[in-house]
Amino acid sequence: MPGADGQPGAPLLAALRARIARDGAISVEAFMRACLTDPEHGTWRREGVIGSGGDFITAPEISQAFGELIGLWCAVAWQGMGRPVPVRLVELGPGRGTLMRDALRAVRLVPGFLEAVTVHLVEISRALREEQRRVLGADRPIAGQQPQGQSPPPSLPGQGEGGPAAATLWHETVQDVPPGPAIVVANEFLDALPIRQLVFAGGDWHERVVEADATGGLRFGVGARVRDRLPAAPPPAEGDILELRPAEAELLAALARRSAPLYALFIDYGPAEAAYGDTLQAVRRHRWVDPLAHPGTADITAHVQFARLADSARAAGLAVDGPLPQGELLGRLGIAERAARLMATNPALAGDIEAGVQRLVSPTGMGSLFKAMAVRTPGLPPVPGFG
Ligand code: SAH
Repeated sequence: MPGADGQPGAPLLAALRARIARDGAISVEAFMRACLTDPEHGTWRREGVIGSGGDFITAPEISQAFGELIGLWCAVAWQGMGRPVPVRLVELGPGRGTLMRDALRAVRLVPGFLEAVTVHLVEISRALREEQRRVLGADRPIAGQQPQGQSPPPSLPGQGEGGPAAATLWHETVQDVPPGPAIVVANEFLDALPIRQLVFAGGDWHERVVEADATGGLRFGVGARVRDRLPAAPPPAEGDILELRPAEAELLAALARRSAPLYALFIDYGPAEAAYGDTLQAVRRHRWVDPLAHPGTADITAHVQFARLADSARAAGLAVDGPLPQGELLGRLGIAERAARLMATNPALAGDIEAGVQRLVSPTGMGSLFKAMAVRTPGLPPVPGFG
């Protein structure tokens, strides 16, 4: 978004430089948080971030089979819990609402599930909340009715018709979701939570910081020595970068504190085994850009370290399944069969359907960089795809 002087990101850059001049260098975490959630200039305050015309595209936007299979995964999870009524179907960071729309349509064939569900969308972006409301037809909270108005590109026919309306509530954080049994899904949510970066220099870990440079921009620097207890990791070499995402442990602890049956499915990109390295990245209009240039105008994310996510889940008292490569989970959930059915019903679009599914499962697409990991209340059976 062009700033007052025509330079993208100029207002937030000026605000950050002023803050640094006043308070000193800021942590990478504070920088990332400002880029994402600054009340005036943060990414999530802007409109049109997700989708082919936005900054980046995600699995549910690539193929409706993705949301449909996750919906069926949720229905089986509900059965594994003993079919509680009501059950909270929670999505963290629902984007345009596409995954939830496709999930709710697919589960219409599962007896009793839709009637049991209340939908809870944890979303900080006002613009995306509006989009979700439109896409889900959520102003019409009667199951089984056709949504009206300007929905996004409709999903293809093939399984169940009509709008997936179910009672839907929006929340600022997961802590606000009412108590009771819950099934939580989060696709590309964790990568959008701020990370800390530590850099190994002179035999110690230091906070990696962002400071002002002499030419009106920002640059990385090495900040104060860190005394926190750090997760187990291989011996570091000079210059190694360790990424920590404190919000993950907080999220898992909040889920565990619900003390009601819970399944949660996290899908995101990052390594299965903890690894050193700088994974901070910024994408604008589907292109990589320098994360420090034009703050707030690009989608800034970092890999999820699944080994640490699993450790945080276990520390919170939850059982862990996976991680698995996304392609493997989708294969086990039946994406090939689902795609074949969609192609048979929509022969003119068979090529696009095939290409979309390939992108989700292929190791050269999203099939292996993306991983899926499930957590559950101990004692619940493992869910399909992970058992
Ligand atoms: N799951 C969607 C969107 C992924 S983008 C998809 O797969 O298309 C990340 C989403 O998380 C957006 O909806 C964004 O607004 C939301 N989000 C980011 N940080 C958040 C936070 N701290 N709390 C709640 N929602 C957040």
